[in-house]
Amino acid sequence: MAARRALKAVLVDLSGTLHIEDSAVPGAQEALKRLRGAPVTIRFVTNTTKECKKDLLERLTKLGFDIAEHEIFTSLTAARNLLEQKQVRPLLLVDEKALPDFTGIATDDPNAVVIGLAPEHFHYEMMNKAFRLILDGAPLIAIHKARYFKKKNGLALGPGPFVAGLEYATDIKATVVGKPEKTFFLEALRGTNCAPEEAVMIGDDCRDDVGGAQNAGMRGILVRTGKYRPADENKINPAPYLTCESFPEAVEHILEDLL
Ligand SMILES: [Mg+2]
Repeated sequence: MAARRALKAVLVDLSGTLHIEDSAVPGAQEALKRLRGAPVTIRFVTNTTKECKKDLLERLTKLGFDIAEHEIFTSLTAARNLLEQKQVRPLLLVDEKALPDFTGIATDDPNAVVIGLAPEHFHYEMMNKAFRLILDGAPLIAIHKARYFKKKNGLALGPGPFVAGLEYATDIKATVVGKPEKTFFLEALRGTNCAPEEAVMIGDDCRDDVGGAQNAGMRGILVRTGKYRPADENKINPAPYLTCESFPEAVEHILEDLL
């Protein structure tokens, strides 16, 4: 078997891995500091549809994480890149707080549908408007298709079921821009001078974080925090490269065994 390439980049999921809503995962700030002492590039990759980059950064800084804006790559950025590439005007079914990341994008007379987690838009009238646009040829762009996510009071529906509803009604497949898409992980590495084989992804979502990264050629570490549920590691084949209790344990493994 070919020798593993040396590790040059670490991609880290945010929600469920570094924090759960407004609480940090215990020891995560310290662990990130230790990781910064290693000769690796760090990128934070997230499927958020609710928070623009600026809000995300503010929340993380408040929680004591030392993170720079240019290190964050989100599914909203990926969606914006695609809209610009396609030169379309979207009906934006995203949370109001996500709108700053779409500043400057024309939305009048829409000819595309962008859908994220937007509970206030998920009612019959709005879904029907999206349905009709798609039938008229508007591309359907999904920020991501997560089935559910972790809230303080329990699991909650993600955008996935609503995207799937539009796909079902129109018989048209959405273009997904967030995790677990291969292009998302490759774009996250852009400018790092690092090949996928030289990167590891740490996340709490077995399919979207670990499966997606491994499908892009990276190693994937699953953490048992956030949305993790027992036996999640059996959901993908090949299995995760490694499963750890939490982000700090994943960092210890990287520092001890991968460098
Ligand atoms: Mg997560």
